[in-house]
Amino acid sequence: MTTLQDELFAQQNSKDLLKQAQQAAFEYIDSQSNQRVFPNASNLEKLTLFDESLPEASSDPALLLEQLNTVGSVNTVAQTGGRYFGFVNGNALPVTLATKWLSDVWDQNAALYVMSPIASKLESICQTWLNQLFGLPEHTVAGFVSGTSIATLSGLAAARYRQLQKLGWDVNQQGLFGAPKIRLILGKQTHGTVAKAISLLGFGHTSIEWVDCDKQGRLIVENLPQLDQSCIVVLQAGNVNSGAFDDFTTLCQLANTAQAWVHIDGAFGLWAKASNVFDEQTKGMELADSWSVDPHKTLNTPYDCGIVLCKDAEALTSALHQQGSYIQLSEQRDGLLYTPEMSKRARAIELWAAMKYLGRAGIAELVEQLHSHAQFFADLLADNGFTILNEVVFNQVILNCETEQLTQKTLSLVQQSGECWCGGSVWHEQSVIRISLCSWATTKQDILRSVKVFVEARKQALQT
Ligand SMILES: *Cc1c(COP(=O)(O)O)cnc(C)c1O
Repeated sequence: MTTLQDELFAQQNSKDLLKQAQQAAFEYIDSQSNQRVFPNASNLEKLTLFDESLPEASSDPALLLEQLNTVGSVNTVAQTGGRYFGFVNGNALPVTLATKWLSDVWDQNAALYVMSPIASKLESICQTWLNQLFGLPEHTVAGFVSGTSIATLSGLAAARYRQLQKLGWDVNQQGLFGAPKIRLILGKQTHGTVAKAISLLGFGHTSIEWVDCDKQGRLIVENLPQLDQSCIVVLQAGNVNSGAFDDFTTLCQLANTAQAWVHIDGAFGLWAKASNVFDEQTKGMELADSWSVDPHKTLNTPYDCGIVLCKDAEALTSALHQQGSYIQLSEQRDGLLYTPEMSKRARAIELWAAMKYLGRAGIAELVEQLHSHAQFFADLLADNGFTILNEVVFNQVILNCETEQLTQKTLSLVQQSGECWCGGSVWHEQSVIRISLCSWATTKQDILRSVKVFVEARKQALQT
């Protein structure tokens, strides 16, 4: 009788499943340019084929892979093509996908050096390279997490530890009940993940002092309250709608003088530092204490790949401290010291591949291309009756039509087209269409084709 284990060995040895997956993956890549960007209704209907109760007996793995391929691939959103402009979702550079495939086979746990010397080594290398790329002090440490949400949580946990310690309170020992008050200073345009991190950290939204922002979404410096060492200030490198950057030099200098902590949410915008085209935007960002940034956005690595950077290594590792009799720390880098998670995939591998492949010049070229494409897109739309609402300083464009209704109708027709996809938002109490250029694969041709869709959608919306 063959046991489950016999079967698994047979699958592993024949590699048939991997070959089947490889073939399906190649077909998907080749079909990208013709595939709808968002699935149509009849394909979405097919998702019900997955509705079944937990199988009692084992399923044929080749058949389930086939089901995933035939029903699954047509129900993906074609983010890896050139005409997806939703949220701020990056593509994946071919070399990052290839290195991820190889490292998936390795299945490394990046928690400890003794679990994976290669993961530990590449985390160290990436940390050094990131400091060089972003112009941060050499002693800045990096934690490799799932994305900016967790990076921000980690950075603010370090801030909580350090600011409370300055006030004579050890949050690890004494907790938050009865702790001195911490003041959180946030622009009204701060990303929603920051407020989430603040509640997870036990501060409560009543600790937040909201500061007004200007038309572009930048925190208004004159409106900043008096800062002191109980303050944590959160700034943005790249507003999620407009792409705007805060005035880091002025704000960080005020904070540094007052011994306030500054965290910069630079999920997609921190990468602008790679090119001197954006010097005016990124100036002074190195004066902060911690940063969050996503390789899975602008750098075009696969998900999930986020980073927390922190100048104060002791604050970060104290905040994320973990003990256990079986945990074997080493003289080398142990990744778990810098992240909330213990077990985690070795995401620094793709990050290393992206940075080694592109180099500083390649990263600069990538961000400059995203920016010039955003400008090209905005100029064409402006020529065709749309109103551009932001200064296109990086990769984001926000626009609208003459009325709320026309904007919403046009957006909905664009989304239904299958030709391209972008999302909507609310900007200064108006409905807007937002476009994010975040894929290495977008060409001018893709933009021309998408502008046609926008023009046609607006025309049709005007008629109904
Ligand atoms: C995407 C984004 C986030 C959230 O990042 P995740 O990687 O999705 O967790 C936070 N802030 C900004 C500005 C973003 O663009």
